Amino acid sequence: MSISQNLITIKSTLPPSVSLVAVSKTKPIADLMEAYATGHRLFGENKIQEMTEKWDRMPKDIQWHMIGHVQSNKVKFMAEYVALIHGVDSLKLLEEINKQALKYHRTINCLLQIHIAKEETKFGLDQSELQDLLQSESFKSMNNICIMGLMGMATFTNDQAQIKKEFCHLKSVFDTLKASDNLNCNISILSMGMSGDYKWAIEAGSNMVRIGSSIFGSR
Ligand SMILES: *Cc1c(COP(=O)(O)O)cnc(C)c1O
Repeated sequence: MSISQNLITIKSTLPPSVSLVAVSKTKPIADLMEAYATGHRLFGENKIQEMTEKWDRMPKDIQWHMIGHVQSNKVKFMAEYVALIHGVDSLKLLEEINKQALKYHRTINCLLQIHIAKEETKFGLDQSELQDLLQSESFKSMNNICIMGLMGMATFTNDQAQIKKEFCHLKSVFDTLKASDNLNCNISILSMGMSGDYKWAIEAGSNMVRIGSSIFGSR
């Protein structure tokens, strides 16, 4: 099937409350334009340099989501245009995002990444680190960022029960956060689910899925 057919088919199966980030990392602009031609405007990339090159050369009504791990020293390259940064997992990084957002007189929307997988290598905060971050004076003084919700990645495994357990755990952290009163937050987005596991993520309460290979083919 073609990229546009894959995209249209997947979209038709998603509940209306779930938004789809088309993960276009490593793919050429022609592939992204095929998705764009169907009316799709939400793209996810995991490298700031690659995303910025695509932003530069593509229509300006695209919403660019940074879904990868972000190094503080590169925030400046996307601060002008990024729509949502999914993988924020430290106060230091937030401080840099806030600083760069201020330069462009804008508020940058962010998700905090929560560590839910068994693998040590996956980035993210645990619950106590999340609380410490939200309650720090530094965080409370940031006027140019808005925390829109949480993001997480499940363990890479065939064990369905394990994946579902991790997604349900993230949903419960999300619900608790949503019910609590924190500055600089507008908690509404739960970003979880990729090509291999997005159906379970939606069952567990995800409202934003990040799908790459099922749309654009393997990388
Ligand atoms: C690459 C990537 C995806 C998409 O993965 P697919 O398996 O190709 O759907 C989703 N989220 C993150 C953080 C990624 O890096």
